[in-house]
Amino acid sequence: MKKTLGLMLLLGIATQCFAQTHDPYHQSLVNKVNQNNIIQCLTEFEGFGIKTLGSQAEENTLNWLISHYQSWGYEDIETHQVNAYGETGYNLIVTKTGTVYPETFIIIDAHYDTINGPGTNDNGSGTAVLLEIARILADTDTEYSVKFIHFTAEEWGLIGSQQYVNEIVIPQNLDLKLVFNIDEVGGVAGMNNDTIVCEKDMSAPNGNNAASEQRTQELAVCMQLYSNLDTFISFAYGSDYVPFQEAGYVITGLYEFNESDFPHTPYDTIENMDPEYEYQVTKGSLGALAFFAKAYGELNTDEQESLQYTVYPNPADEFIILPPRKSGEKMQVQLFDSTGKLVRQSVQKPAQELKIVTTNLQQGIYFLKIGDKTHKVIVQHK
Ligand SMILES: [Zn+2]
Repeated sequence: MKKTLGLMLLLGIATQCFAQTHDPYHQSLVNKVNQNNIIQCLTEFEGFGIKTLGSQAEENTLNWLISHYQSWGYEDIETHQVNAYGETGYNLIVTKTGTVYPETFIIIDAHYDTINGPGTNDNGSGTAVLLEIARILADTDTEYSVKFIHFTAEEWGLIGSQQYVNEIVIPQNLDLKLVFNIDEVGGVAGMNNDTIVCEKDMSAPNGNNAASEQRTQELAVCMQLYSNLDTFISFAYGSDYVPFQEAGYVITGLYEFNESDFPHTPYDTIENMDPEYEYQVTKGSLGALAFFAKAYGELNTDEQESLQYTVYPNPADEFIILPPRKSGEKMQVQLFDSTGKLVRQSVQKPAQELKIVTTNLQQGIYFLKIGDKTHKVIVQHK
């Protein structure tokens, strides 16, 4: 539930601070994001109809969510009853226990209730991101515990999340490292959806704002490292992170940059969205959650092979190094800027290190094409 504020009110702060670097294991997780799963999830979500608190559609969606988590082997699955205006529904909380910090939680959340329409963007899109991330993380350890939370009654005024904070988080004094909210990230059909808004807390109380700023910068970097999207930092408002921030917790969030006109109408449907954008948002979100929760594991042989060849440094300042390759072929090497313009070209001979000078390139995102593989490279001058 977000009212259009328009871009005039957004804070135009480009992300310049690269606090963390690309993690090959996190990349191997991100590589598992499957666009067909996302489209199927959005389609099924749409098929349930209008999911208002207390409706049959809301209950059907809840059961559908639970069956997904069960099928992936999650065992700690709880519902939390939400009551408002004489209706009853349920938040869904699925907990994955951390191996090092089991009592410290990263919450990733998205509301699944809708109003006036099927809500495929608002917020089937966030729902699909959570499900795809949960599917991929089911067999991966994280140092911190993760709670996947699907809130209801968001559209009636953040009621599901508010009751969860009041009845669970505060009484149980939960140790929350971060609340990462995803609401309306489906993009707009027919537009060039190439930017994601990363939202930081700028509201009272202020004691948690600096930490939110830091986490949001980290989120933006992860979105850039693990998706092809640009990022835009703005302020958090009007979604389920608000009750957490009001209770003093540290929050961050994602929201689409091109804003759909259709939320809260019957036209909030997949055909008015951009599934490729949602796919990119999912990849970046998984990279971010893997970073926040400290996912770790071994790369299998195939993954090692495909990830082994790493160009560095990334971000690059004066040059990018392509290490020598074992296999004996000459490789064409091309560097493109984010608009697709070719800016550097070379050939790497077998067993030869290649250095590409980047001193005179503008800061930003580049794509390094080596043979048929493309590596994303960030140029940032010190
Ligand atoms: Zn929403």
